[in-house]
Amino acid sequence: MSAKKEDWRKLLGFSCTGCGNCCKGTIVLITAGDVKRIMEGTGMAAKEFVHFFTSVDMPKRDSLWIKLGNKRVAMGLKWATKPRRCKFLDAETNMCGIYEHRPVTCRSHPFEIKTTDTWAVQKLSLSDIVDCPHEWDGEHTLRELKATERWNCDQVDTFEDQVKAWNRKRSGKRTANEFLKFCELA
Ligand code: SF4
Ligand code: SF4
Repeated sequence: MSAKKEDWRKLLGFSCTGCGNCCKGTIVLITAGDVKRIMEGTGMAAKEFVHFFTSVDMPKRDSLWIKLGNKRVAMGLKWATKPRRCKFLDAETNMCGIYEHRPVTCRSHPFEIKTTDTWAVQKLSLSDIVDCPHEWDGEHTLRELKATERWNCDQVDTFEDQVKAWNRKRSGKRTANEFLKFCELA
């Protein structure tokens, strides 16, 4: 094992302290697969927790931009305010209210994994999008992280196809609700 690999393997000891920072003030982008699972798990309608964001830090040509009317939007979890946070985050306990059904991206955070075409792990790093006061007594495994990454990739691939088909559609209204119906989420 190279010295570099030894370094990133240490990250498997990451342990979340539950401060909730990563669920506050961040836009959590989701796929149709996430929405379906949350709907089934909570009994909520998609419109109760889905928001279409116009201002997202995503490349102009990203395949997850959805055309609604004359706008370009990205699908994410709605926010609650005071403090601004994911609507599922309990402001007092910092607990996720849909932990069992949470989006795949929430499950992989803060790990960022780079793999080969055959899913061999090339590199592991930790996201630095928020201040993360973690500990180092965790026991993650590469197997677990790879499984989540594969799930994420499969979900994103399927959603990209849905978005592409929607964006190419020439007839019908281009509203948020119509998009949700197009994805069989309303
Ligand atoms: S769904 Fe749960 S884990 Fe994900 S951002 Fe919201 S509160 Fe945090
Ligand atoms: S910011 Fe880090 S420590 Fe805080 S909840 Fe998120 S992952 Fe856990």
